[in-house]
Amino acid sequence: MISVNEARERILSHFQPAAIESLALIACANRVLAVDITAAHDLPLFDNSAMDGFAVCADDTSASGTTLRHAEPRSVSNRQATTLQQAQGITLSVVADIPAGSAPTVTLAKGEAARIMTGAQLPAGANAVIPVEDTDFNNREAGIPAPKTISFAKIVKTGDNVRRRGMDIQAGAVILSKGRTLKPQDLGLLAMLGIGNVQVYKKPRVGLLSSGDELLDVDAPLESGKIRDSNSYTLAALIESAGAEVLRLGVAQDARESVEALLQKAVHEDADFILSSAGVSVGSFDFIKTVIESKGRLDFWRVNMRPGKPLAFGEYLDKPVIGLPGNPVSAFVGFEIFVRPVLGRLSGKLDGSRRTVYVRSEKEIESDGRESYLRAKIREENGVLTAGLTTSHQGSGNLLSLVQADALLIIPAGVKCVPAGQEVEAYLL
Ligand code: AMP
Ligand code: MG
Repeated sequence: MISVNEARERILSHFQPAAIESLALIACANRVLAVDITAAHDLPLFDNSAMDGFAVCADDTSASGTTLRHAEPRSVSNRQATTLQQAQGITLSVVADIPAGSAPTVTLAKGEAARIMTGAQLPAGANAVIPVEDTDFNNREAGIPAPKTISFAKIVKTGDNVRRRGMDIQAGAVILSKGRTLKPQDLGLLAMLGIGNVQVYKKPRVGLLSSGDELLDVDAPLESGKIRDSNSYTLAALIESAGAEVLRLGVAQDARESVEALLQKAVHEDADFILSSAGVSVGSFDFIKTVIESKGRLDFWRVNMRPGKPLAFGEYLDKPVIGLPGNPVSAFVGFEIFVRPVLGRLSGKLDGSRRTVYVRSEKEIESDGRESYLRAKIREENGVLTAGLTTSHQGSGNLLSLVQADALLIIPAGVKCVPAGQEVEAYLL
């Protein structure tokens, strides 16, 4: 038996990031960046107002301003002067009206202000904005013209309510790195920077097949001795959750020609690799191995794990094939351990594996010494995540217990008992 890590590394060594394509920004959510993105210009693009209000020169609003002069110079410690000034108020004449989207043409002189809207460019001579709420201009309905003068009783400091050019991002900065899975907010940032087409990795395409004479489609009437093909639904959704596309090949019968036909289809349609479930054990009807070997090579491993010990990896006509076990929980676990990392690498992700967390075991947990993935419920107690095994049995056909589980606890190889209260690594589901 080989270790989980060794099996994973051996499989991963056969895969390289997929090709790159240029996509319209609108189509880039959840796609993986294939290049570093550098800002071509500053953000904000220009000094602009963070509020609806009046653009002013901060000096004009202090004791040294032209409109209001005090004998004593204002200083931080001189509370009296400030109080006096606030009580009296400051009046400036409004010389321009600057809506968002317009390029201001005025230069404010001493004693002058301009009405300005949120996002509008600051006029020359202004370095602060006094919010409309802090002025005597009460009429804030849409369509009302700017007032002739404006009065307020507030000290304004340079930079108040101004979003300065380049305060968020400076031209030349690397803002998103190659390998990042693009989030909605990333798309917004790319739009801000005028990047309408993005270099991303092509989505991997996985040829997916189930195998077994016992399998019926979900819509087919039941027949005695038959079961429904559930793996193709679980695995297809897992593939999509990893950002890849599914090429549904259908169900192979336990017969050489049937398996051959589906593998040929995957080759013909140029899937990046083939993912099968079942038919790779030592049963007399497990034809997948024979077919792969007839036109390629096959490694069949017993991996030191539970569930999901049998795992096949090979190449059929140069197409990689990963053969997962057939039992539904084993197929799921096998996907998470071996296939998700492959999809991560193929799609160029920096880290394509699931993240793990540490949880505290509620009770003693027994294991059989193989690396085990046990279904567990997670509770939060006083800010600590604690885990207890799901109440029903951990058999690899018991899909309901996986449905009920919040996590897979990872019990390392060689461990036969985890004492109550001990920390255990886990995949949250
Ligand atoms: P096998 O590896 O072919 O011996 O299959 C192992 C177990 O998994 C058997 O009980 C199969 O019936 C079951 N099984 C195989 N494929 C599927 C599938 N696609 N959906 C649900 N169960 C399956
Ligand atoms: Mg079978």
